[in-house]
Amino acid sequence: MNRLKKIKDDGWPAGVKKTKQRESVLAVLKNSDKPLSAMDIYSKIEKNGSSAWLSTVYRILELMVKKGVVIKTNIMNSEMAVYEFNRFKHKHYAVCMRCNKIIIMDNCPMDKFIPQFKDEEFSVIGHNIEIFGFCKDCK
Ligand SMILES: [Zn+2]
Ligand SMILES: [Zn+2]
Repeated sequence: MNRLKKIKDDGWPAGVKKTKQRESVLAVLKNSDKPLSAMDIYSKIEKNGSSAWLSTVYRILELMVKKGVVIKTNIMNSEMAVYEFNRFKHKHYAVCMRCNKIIIMDNCPMDKFIPQFKDEEFSVIGHNIEIFGFCKDCK
């Protein structure tokens, strides 16, 4: 993939200047095994002692998404967005409608699904599936 080449081994996108804040945002995402909201990232940076504005975090995230280093997923009918470090792995999430907890799904419902198109020719390259319900704490 062309996109891969633009990202260096340490996960840093080529052509992007390193700043403390950008590095902290990426480090938080790299160290997380689940997607985080901008607010989550913001509070984690605060906890580490370095400071950043929430608006700065958003700006950095948008930049990283554009560079392909970070994946943005809209959840809760696009009311909320979560971000994760792009590990080039295919994953789906289930979202709790009460506490907004995000749970990683082990399988893909599209694995055995062959989309059919009536008259159209269409090559599928990806999909988005939103699973929602209640987690075990909210059930
Ligand atoms: Zn819940
Ligand atoms: Zn899938």
